[in-house]
Amino acid sequence: MARCLVTGGAGFIGSHLAGRLLDGGHDVVVLDNLSTGRKSNLDRLIDHPRLRFVSGSITDPLAAAEAARGAEAIYHLAAAVGVKLVADDPVRTIETNIYPTDQLLRLAVQSGTKFFLASTSEVFGKNPKDRWNEEDDLQFGPTSRPRWAYGASKAIDEFLALAYHQQFGLPVVIGRFFNVVGPRQVGDYGMVIPRFVGQALRGEPLVVYDDGKQERCFAHVSEVVECIVSLMETPGAAGQVFNIGGDEPISMRQLAEEIVRRTGSASKVVFRPYDEAYGHRFEDVRRRVPDVSRLERTIGRKPSLPLGEILDDVIRATRETIAESE
Ligand code: NAD
Repeated sequence: MARCLVTGGAGFIGSHLAGRLLDGGHDVVVLDNLSTGRKSNLDRLIDHPRLRFVSGSITDPLAAAEAARGAEAIYHLAAAVGVKLVADDPVRTIETNIYPTDQLLRLAVQSGTKFFLASTSEVFGKNPKDRWNEEDDLQFGPTSRPRWAYGASKAIDEFLALAYHQQFGLPVVIGRFFNVVGPRQVGDYGMVIPRFVGQALRGEPLVVYDDGKQERCFAHVSEVVECIVSLMETPGAAGQVFNIGGDEPISMRQLAEEIVRRTGSASKVVFRPYDEAYGHRFEDVRRRVPDVSRLERTIGRKPSLPLGEILDDVIRATRETIAESE
């Protein structure tokens, strides 16, 4: 059993990953500054004898080095996340998403530590292909639009991780997540399913941006976490990039209608221009669908839970959270 560091382990995906690693018998150190994560995400785990929670920032080199000491695997998930947060604070995005990744990779090289890098489908930018595979081109918009800073920062992380693999043999695995959803995700940073479910359960209109024909795919966090763990246990995965996501697209309009139906809400679905949420120079990506054949070939699985079951789980968890807060 290994000692693992999970940066961003108090976040949505990180807390599920920390739980899965503890269940697998590993020792887990979580390093998180609780900027978008919450200590309560770790409530179920906090008294676990093999968990250590460190409140600190990956931008603090001493805190990062101390948390990584003795780790045999680093799962690097801490980042400035979400298109909205990134568009609002581009300096923080670059400081959080680039320099600390380099430092953690250097620490990993010194001790031969396995490394998982959480990347994102945003690295494909606005590539017009119907289905993206890992070798497709990255197509960002101009640097005058901060919206692209998130994907570009994660692309630099990928270059760094692959460089450390190539030059120093560091066993790195890069996972490009496509819209991961499930309990504990919050809608505050532009994440669509928690936002729609919250609006439906509060009886508010579900606000769909633009014409609602944009298409996305969704994967349940429990399946994504299984993929991460399997990839880290598969030696042949080292040095490669993997799309990790569901591969059945749905339009945002259909998604909103499905959530209204499944919650039994009386809410209406309304349409608004992007400007209202993201400012007037916002550019969106119309369709974002992964080719997950490399993932399936390498670990023999891909996220496949049907969207209906994913939505029911999020609706159930959101109802519980609302009931607890009343
Ligand atoms: P999240 O906001 O819940 O998790 C990020 C965590 O990182 C939070 O707990 C936050 O407090 C922590 N963090 C941020 N800055 C930090 C810092 N300077 N020092 C220490 N901790 C810091 O978001 P998430 O959805 O769980 O995302 C996890 C990772 O997955 C991120 O790297 C994100 O880019 C990536 N990702 C997520 C999705 C998705 O659909 N959720 C999609 C693509 C990529």
